[in-house]
Amino acid sequence: MRIAIIGGLAAGPAAAAEAKRRAPDAEVVLFEEGPNISVGTCEMPYLIGGVIDPSVDLVVVSPAEMERTRGVEVRIRHRVTALDPARGRLTVEALDFGSTREEAFDRFVLATGARARRLGVDGEEAAGVFTVRDLVDTEQIRRWLDTEDVRHVVVAGGGYIGLEMAEAMRERGLRATILDPKGRVLGGAVACEASDLMDRAVRGAGVLVRPERATEVLTDDRGRVRAVRTDRGEIVGCQMLIVSVGVEPRAELAEAAGLRLGDMGGVTVDDEMRTSHRHVWACGDLVQIPRAPDGRRVLWPLATTARRTARVAARNVAKPGSDRFRPFAGAVAVRAFGVEVGSVGLSMQRAKGAGLDAFATDIRHVSRTKAFPGASPIDVRLVVERRTGRILGGQVVGAEGAALRANVLVPLVIRGSTVRELAEDLDLVYNPPVAPAVDPLKVAASRALRSL
Ligand SMILES: Cc1cc2nc3c(=O)[nH]c(=O)nc-3n(C[C@H](O)[C@H](O)[C@H](O)COP(=O)(O)OP(=O)(O)OC[C@H]3O[C@@H](n4cnc5c(N)ncnc54)[C@H](O)[C@@H]3O)c2cc1C
Repeated sequence: MRIAIIGGLAAGPAAAAEAKRRAPDAEVVLFEEGPNISVGTCEMPYLIGGVIDPSVDLVVVSPAEMERTRGVEVRIRHRVTALDPARGRLTVEALDFGSTREEAFDRFVLATGARARRLGVDGEEAAGVFTVRDLVDTEQIRRWLDTEDVRHVVVAGGGYIGLEMAEAMRERGLRATILDPKGRVLGGAVACEASDLMDRAVRGAGVLVRPERATEVLTDDRGRVRAVRTDRGEIVGCQMLIVSVGVEPRAELAEAAGLRLGDMGGVTVDDEMRTSHRHVWACGDLVQIPRAPDGRRVLWPLATTARRTARVAARNVAKPGSDRFRPFAGAVAVRAFGVEVGSVGLSMQRAKGAGLDAFATDIRHVSRTKAFPGASPIDVRLVVERRTGRILGGQVVGAEGAALRANVLVPLVIRGSTVRELAEDLDLVYNPPVAPAVDPLKVAASRALRSL
């Protein structure tokens, strides 16, 4: 059996290695159009900011290592330009040789991921305008920072990557401004709806968050960004613009191959990660997967789900019917400017969007017992279904112990546990330097229970 894996960043290598483990006799070939496979993308903002030493290699597994230790044949700088599942054929372009040829395979795994969204405004092609998606972007950003006279950086988008990049710029001693129409940070995957702790930390670090959208990029006579015009007609001078306004699935190959796409533009897969063609599976940022609270199939572009979908896809490629994807809780965190946010499941906004009758309970408590030095405020929001008391999601925000505390909500959201169970049946740790006698999560659950 010949198995082709298309895309080599996070989901692709995980799928390739697992397919080879499960089907040792199969020939597994991994195609990646870029120069690297298996890159720790999540670390990139810290490499740019200098928190991670520039000498650290973010490549987790090199192509040679992948071949030697996993038995997977790797072809970097090879772009798959067409997939014909009915004939079992791929068309592959070898980018370094300018040659194209067809190859035969029995089964396919699509892991083509997502691309950074652009603003779609005039001037966006100017030098000094970047998205942050891969190591090539990272190297270009670092080169720009090292060679140009950059003093002020505008970051379009206040999501978690925008926030990490603003922090990276401050780490480098530069001024940073975030443009986000909401005038707040973290309105996306990492939800931070009720707490102002992160906003205060961002402001305290000298980062301005303007409730504006970039409408045009202005350039100097050498074609370099010199300012951004906003929808309020303001001109914000800068020597670098980072566009961080979300991602969109790279589904062109799948679409051209006639595979079914979902309502969000991702590839439709069943619980075995099989697409609408029986010999093609898909995984990672490319696919729409079911979220636990309401079963809706959505895009959830994170490394955690990318790896899990990859494993499921690979097991079923090796032996159809051997594994099933179980709905995800949506656990995600960010730490910036000394504050961390962990969010799990549905935000209030998403719950409303899903048509669920939900309410939110917000509390402020402490991270350790009050008497213990170093205790700091911790905010919890629980999103609860009114009729059943089921926990649909939650957000935990604070200077310490917030993100990992949010992990407690993962099994609760997946299993549909209620606020009564969290308030009354679960003992969470208590130890003065670690957590107060009644954990903030339990305080929030008790409050929600009273509201019910
Ligand atoms: C700055 C940053 C920080 C992040 N931080 C976190 C975090 O803290 N936690 C977390 O869980 N997630 C994080 N993520 C998200 C995570 O990196 C992605 O979810 C993950 O990379 C998705 O993996 P993927 O393999 O599905 O897709 P991608 O990473 O998009 O990889 C797809 C690969 O396929 C290749 N490809 C596409 N089309 C073709 C083709 N036709 N032929 C050959 N190759 C092709 C592409 O070149 C690419 O290398 C972060 C992402 C970024 C950018």
